[in-house]
Amino acid sequence: MLMRHGRSTLFHLVLILFAGDSANADCQPGDTLTLLHFNDFHGQLESVSTPEMPAGGIARLATVVRQVRAEQPEHPVMLLFAGDVLQGTITSSLFLGLPDIALFNRLGVDAAVMGNHELDDGQEVFRRLAEQAKFPFLSANVQSHPVPLPVQSTLVMTTSDGSEIAVLGLTTPELTTAIHPRHAIGLSVEDPVSVARRRLPELQKHADLVIVLSHLGLADDQRLAQAVPGIDLIVGGHSHHALEQPVMAGDVAIVQAGERGQWLGRMDLDCRNGHLEPTAYRLLPMDASVPEDPDIAAEVAHILAEAEAGLMDEIGVAAVELSARREEIRRTEAVFGNLVADLARQLTQSDVAFFNAGSFRATIPRGTVTLRQVSQAFPFHNVLVVGQLSGAAIIAALQRSAALDPDENPGGFLQVSGIRYSIADRRLSSASLTTGSIDPQHLYQVVMPDFLAAGGDGYVEFAGMTDQVLTGRLVSDMLIDALRHEQTLAPRLDGRIERRHGS
Ligand SMILES: [Zn+2]
Repeated sequence: MLMRHGRSTLFHLVLILFAGDSANADCQPGDTLTLLHFNDFHGQLESVSTPEMPAGGIARLATVVRQVRAEQPEHPVMLLFAGDVLQGTITSSLFLGLPDIALFNRLGVDAAVMGNHELDDGQEVFRRLAEQAKFPFLSANVQSHPVPLPVQSTLVMTTSDGSEIAVLGLTTPELTTAIHPRHAIGLSVEDPVSVARRRLPELQKHADLVIVLSHLGLADDQRLAQAVPGIDLIVGGHSHHALEQPVMAGDVAIVQAGERGQWLGRMDLDCRNGHLEPTAYRLLPMDASVPEDPDIAAEVAHILAEAEAGLMDEIGVAAVELSARREEIRRTEAVFGNLVADLARQLTQSDVAFFNAGSFRATIPRGTVTLRQVSQAFPFHNVLVVGQLSGAAIIAALQRSAALDPDENPGGFLQVSGIRYSIADRRLSSASLTTGSIDPQHLYQVVMPDFLAAGGDGYVEFAGMTDQVLTGRLVSDMLIDALRHEQTLAPRLDGRIERRHGS
């Protein structure tokens, strides 16, 4: 177990520094550290059901963490979580991460970085999570005013051997890309590189090991390692890379352990020349051969049973029927399409939103709406992707949608927001933005489900989108959030898609 220094101790260190005492808690020969890490958990309490992936689930993670701690009980083991507790499962939508944090506590997580999805359900929800956590959430580059976020910049820990370990938390500036503006009020995100540059010298002076606990993604981690001297190790997340071995950026090792509790990273370090140095690294798959911790598995089963009941909870009201009938939504403008495309465009502050009609799988009748109905309407776990697309590519995509044979109820028919288009004889007869004409040369910010962004339904134009940001925001969760906050949704037709007579 590690002793945790609070803010006061860090402050104490700073005082010593000013007093001119450069005493460095050098580690001693024989000192060790085993570092365990995971990231991008996304509410995945239960096992994952895809056969080609490790089964995962928090009960398997618990088993392995316990085994590693038991190997040599006198040796220090540290467990780090590199961000994104929330967003991705029905239990997460229902219970907003509370059971996840309770189980992280039982696993003995020592520190977490605040991921971009930690604010998906609002700052209040995150405050509740942080309050319940027996470990700190770190983020040196995100602030909120006037009510501060429950994060701290750094954590300095002393191992039972007496080694000092400094952990600096950094959160991706993509934080504000896909959270509702109401959740972003007062929020400011600083450039992670400048923050790290400012913080590093002080940490480096005192620690035997300086770790950046990063929710920036691998590419930004590499840039960070090159740009800021003094980092020993980056424990990363956000890009969901399952790195079999550390990626080296100069002499900085970057590790990341996939997603959804399917892997646990393990690094063993020894004291060499007064500094903790890695001696081995393994990315441990949480596959079916790993037994589930029975206590944790029982707890997860209990949570899932509660979720089953919670699916019937009424979360809001649809003032009109949200029809996903194929002969409607796959042929022409539909209120369900307008609603979801408008929400996505507002959420991401994009110019245009596109949704393939095939992503709407079930009608939500007029009246009270349950979580189950929303998850039946969007069963595919599609997430929103934001990117840049030229006006010419937007027109080409609309031409593709217009050319589809309406009699076949094509799933690729495009529901839209921020744009109007009309079809005559299976050809695009006009198209414009709601704000004016489309400039073929201009780049517009667009949002769409990941299925379309990957070129699904033949939309090669979308696959060519630049500056893509995979927001991780589920289409279903966006709708759940809107129902919970607006209470009543009353979308209407406004003539944004027209199919001219006889076509
Ligand atoms: Zn993330």
